[in-house]
Amino acid sequence: MKVIKTIEEMSQFNRRNTTATIGFVPTMGFLHEGHLSLAREAKNKNDVLVMSIFVNPLQFGPNEDFKRYPRNEERDVRLAEKVGVDVLFMPSLEEMYPVKSIIQMEMIGRVDVLCGASRPGHFDGVITVLTKFFHIVKPTNVYFGLKDAQQIAVVDALITDLNFPITLIGLPTKREVDGLAMSSRNVYLSNSERKEATVLYKSLQKAKSLIEKGIVEKKLIIDEIRQMINDNTSGKIDYVSIFSYPNLEEVQQIDEQVIIAVAVYFKQARLIDNIIISNNGNQMEIFTRGEA
Ligand code: AMP
Repeated sequence: MKVIKTIEEMSQFNRRNTTATIGFVPTMGFLHEGHLSLAREAKNKNDVLVMSIFVNPLQFGPNEDFKRYPRNEERDVRLAEKVGVDVLFMPSLEEMYPVKSIIQMEMIGRVDVLCGASRPGHFDGVITVLTKFFHIVKPTNVYFGLKDAQQIAVVDALITDLNFPITLIGLPTKREVDGLAMSSRNVYLSNSERKEATVLYKSLQKAKSLIEKGIVEKKLIIDEIRQMINDNTSGKIDYVSIFSYPNLEEVQQIDEQVIIAVAVYFKQARLIDNIIISNNGNQMEIFTRGEA
């Protein structure tokens, strides 16, 4: 595995590999099985696997956890090598943002709801850094986790609107054995919160079973989820929402493919989870846009 820290070196690598397909997995590090599952699939389907690790300050709000975001470079390098990463791209802050930017990218759709509403500017930071990464890494295929389903909807728009010649692949959320979605931020949970946090996925499964039984009214499903979370956790609900997916538009009933998404604040961590489901109860496991 090659560890690359500069854009210049990454460009040199690309110039040498003009015909190879490049699978790209962008991450913020503190790797877990969720990241590694994306890497394995990218490794399988491409000649070269590039993973980036970069904690992007642009996507953190002023009161968010940029400074204390968990980092462990040594462990990440070991795990990346083990999973078969060919190039681990780990640029410094100065390398990515050497001067104050004079261009600002702004999402004008798909961000007025869910995490986009709770974290103003977050997705503008995401599309800015990804645009830079797409130019630097020149991936054929890019892999994201459906754990961050709104991010996939946003990247879908980025790739389509700005004509990036890249295929987007969204892969299933990896979970702990008790159902909690894996996240680098789970380390912020206290022991009791860690136990309570399993209720997020349980509430989504409950919603799925209601839909399978033919209950399609949005309000009924949302009320059920809210009650389960409020009754069984000390967390404070940020949102429990249902929108069409990937357009993220209002629905009253589950009569098309929708995302059922939850976000809950615990003392030190805000956790998110979701399922994407059709009115027959079928769950979407993989999202693709482009020539897969
Ligand atoms: P992050 O390091 O949190 O920015 O995540 C990097 C990539 O890993 C994103 O595409 C995430 O959606 C994905 N990811 C994070 N957690 C999981 C998970 N539990 N299962 C699958 N993918 C995940």
